[in-house]
Amino acid sequence: MTDVSTAASYVSADDDMSARASTAYSAALDVIASVEPRIADASRAELADQRASLKLIASENYASPAVLLTMSSWLSDKYAEGTIGHRFYAGCQNVDSVEALAAEHARELFGAEHAYVQPHSGIDANLVGFWAILAHRIETPALERLGAKNVNELSEEDWEKLRHEFGDQRMLGMSLDAGGHLTHGFRPNISGKMFHQRSYGTDPGTGLLDYDRVAAAAREFRPMVLVAGYSAYPRRVNFAKMREIADEVGATLMVDMAHFAGLVAGKVFTGDEDPVPHAHLTTTTTHKSLRGPRGGLVLATEEYAASVDRGCPMVLGGPLSHVMAAKAVALAEARQPSFREYAQRIADNAKSLADGFLSRDAELVTGGTDNHIVLLDVSGFGLTGRQAESALLDAGVVTNRNSVPADPNGAWYTSGIRFGTPALTTRGFGHDEFDRVAELVVDVLSNTTPNTTKSGAPSKATYTIADGVADRTKAASAELLDKYPLYPGLTLT
Ligand SMILES: *Cc1c(COP(=O)(O)O)cnc(C)c1O
Repeated sequence: MTDVSTAASYVSADDDMSARASTAYSAALDVIASVEPRIADASRAELADQRASLKLIASENYASPAVLLTMSSWLSDKYAEGTIGHRFYAGCQNVDSVEALAAEHARELFGAEHAYVQPHSGIDANLVGFWAILAHRIETPALERLGAKNVNELSEEDWEKLRHEFGDQRMLGMSLDAGGHLTHGFRPNISGKMFHQRSYGTDPGTGLLDYDRVAAAAREFRPMVLVAGYSAYPRRVNFAKMREIADEVGATLMVDMAHFAGLVAGKVFTGDEDPVPHAHLTTTTTHKSLRGPRGGLVLATEEYAASVDRGCPMVLGGPLSHVMAAKAVALAEARQPSFREYAQRIADNAKSLADGFLSRDAELVTGGTDNHIVLLDVSGFGLTGRQAESALLDAGVVTNRNSVPADPNGAWYTSGIRFGTPALTTRGFGHDEFDRVAELVVDVLSNTTPNTTKSGAPSKATYTIADGVADRTKAASAELLDKYPLYPGLTLT
């Protein structure tokens, strides 16, 4: 197999491969255009936009042409509810091979006892994880007690009791404003309705996770499920400590590594920082730092394997076989030695970006980073996160606003901007480019001022960028992007 990720970008690694990808995409777009030309146009326009924007969104990346092409296949047309070798439809032998290979790559890559690769997204993976925990800890013992093989055999009365038991369990997860995810018990999400939920936050002074506080919260609340993992925390987590806390209170530890799975796959996070040997269940997306297709997967210990495999019918219907195939391709890529270099560069580049901000007197949540995320507190520029996000976008820099711990501006306006390095690292950016990005961001934000509202107070939403700043930033980022083109050999006809 071609080693795709050592070079600045995969397509440049192999001219012949670029030529073939160019032919494949051009032909595919022609076929699509013959039915609905506006979709072919939107697809071409998206490639142009992706190529021309400074993508610093921490959850996004660029998958390889091999991964992307795998998804446009007739594997999409097959129904395959069930598990490998045990389907509710006939003729699933090819889906069986695809799913078995994706699961094998996932187990080998992450050193997991079991992998379930059907979830369609990160949220689906978490739902499968939560229901598997409830099935393992509530349903299975109840069925044994009642001498029933499955829930369909229960009387109305026993079933009613069991239903209430499901809804009566407790979950402890990281709060949204400290960097947790909405599936970790946020009330508007179903996870906040399935469980009685409490959150642990970070230390208001340092912004860091305080394991003693997590332990104290666990002792008091006694959750059945302890969730670790984050979307906006710029530091590593000690999962061995999290497991100790879970064990002390009899909780199941579920780690959601959706954001940092690439750093686990690339062995940047090892030992106590690798969730897989410590967690009962580890869930992830496959499209963020892992650089695969849009999807999810669940890793589990043998103990939880049978419950996890009931993802369908618990939560899911038919698997997306074409996406499972693309997961297998992406996981094969991630097993190559070059993926380790890529993962290390993600972390090194985040340091360069953080140092670039700090050397220009900008303030960072936790004072820095040791993963792929940098969280800039923009209040020092006199701006809300919303103003900063929009001003940066006007200047061609794509980020997203994010709360900072105990955010005075709330979850809508916020005081932070989240940056991530996986995507631009895929393009080939290194230390100098990320230092330049920090310079450009600081230049835009120092030249942006909030507008004044009718009452004379500074607006939280509108702002003015000094003349010429957006244009000079766009020109400077175009220069960077031209140096590291996306899919360099790929030309559409
Ligand atoms: C992105 C993310 C998810 C959700 O993934 P989707 O594929 O968008 O459903 C779940 N958990 C965490 C921690 C995430 O960052």
